[in-house]
Amino acid sequence: GMKFPLYMDYHATTPVDERVFEEMKPYFTENFGNASSIDHSYGYDASVAVQTARETISNAIGCKMDEIIFTSGATESDNLALIGVMEKNKEKGNHLITCKTEHKAILDCAKHLEENGCEVTYLSVNDKGEIDLKELESSITEKTVLISLMAANNEIGTISNLEEIGKITRKNDVLFHTDAAQAVGHIPIDVEKMNIDLMSFSSHKIYGPKGIGALYVRSMKPRVKLDSLLHGGGQERNIRSGTLNVPGIVGFAKAIEISQKEMEKENAKSKRWTDSMLKKFQEAGGKLNGHPEKRLSHNLNVRFDGIESKAIINTVSKKIAISAGSACTTQIVEPSHVLLALGLAEDETHSSIRIGCGRFNTDEEIEIAADEIYHAVESLAKIRI
Ligand SMILES: *Cc1c(COP(=O)(O)O)cnc(C)c1O
Repeated sequence: GMKFPLYMDYHATTPVDERVFEEMKPYFTENFGNASSIDHSYGYDASVAVQTARETISNAIGCKMDEIIFTSGATESDNLALIGVMEKNKEKGNHLITCKTEHKAILDCAKHLEENGCEVTYLSVNDKGEIDLKELESSITEKTVLISLMAANNEIGTISNLEEIGKITRKNDVLFHTDAAQAVGHIPIDVEKMNIDLMSFSSHKIYGPKGIGALYVRSMKPRVKLDSLLHGGGQERNIRSGTLNVPGIVGFAKAIEISQKEMEKENAKSKRWTDSMLKKFQEAGGKLNGHPEKRLSHNLNVRFDGIESKAIINTVSKKIAISAGSACTTQIVEPSHVLLALGLAEDETHSSIRIGCGRFNTDEEIEIAADEIYHAVESLAKIRI
């Protein structure tokens, strides 16, 4: 049966897949051991489960097992990558390059680093959310240590050209970090082919549990050096101390395994859904924000000029759960920094909604959602006139 409101906010988070939940269960109860306390079978069994998970995850992104550092999620991974690398490489320089449309986890780290003596360049984007690769290359200086550019945007879904960015960073001998929280498990990622040196990703964006994620840290050519943020028992090669979240790690691995296997099929289905919804919304005056093709297939960010997104969201809220943009923590409605960076006016940003469809939606649900939003827009437009 259908459960209302229909969930269509998959960029904010995803439900745990039943197959993932089943895999995790024993690690809460009978297999509860501490993976670092391996003098007995409880701890040993837990450590084997962690290593098996590490292997699955490293295979999915094309790295070595010991290059995976488990964290609490992409926010922590972003902090560890940016602060850890900039702190450790002060001798080389103090310059960081990132982009205006990054997630707050990156932008707020960059701001923190600026307050502590770093220089940060924030690249602009065009109206589709793409950076200019020439501008990227020309902003590299002798003091540039790190370039951090996301793999796929969480609001508009624009997919970056990681391979081209990786060629530039490698050629110029600077480190390349990517926030791939919206990309891993959704599009193919290969850290070797793309010359990625550090990569943040998260379990709860791919049908795994919340509170677990990873940072990939390249160990060779070049060997990335970074300071740790947490000090303690020396887990994760001394980079991230703290007792490992064994059930989380097991679930994260199962989630990645399923996502890799079903990626192509899921993307084809999502593309069909977002294409059909966009067509319907265009009939009601909707305009696409972001890139028409280089976009996550399950993402749709549209604006209805002259109509408040809050009004649309409230009108449909009993039937569909959608959002205006990123999941924010404040009550104040600030214009989206991503949409502003595309060149949208402030009132246009307040007329935009983000839809993220996903694994557990159905054809019928998509049709209902498209109809609901269409009719909400039509009726709100009448009031306005
Ligand atoms: C969700 C998200 C994050 C934060 O990830 P958590 O695991 O929730 O900390 C960071 N960056 C992007 C692009 C995201 O979509």
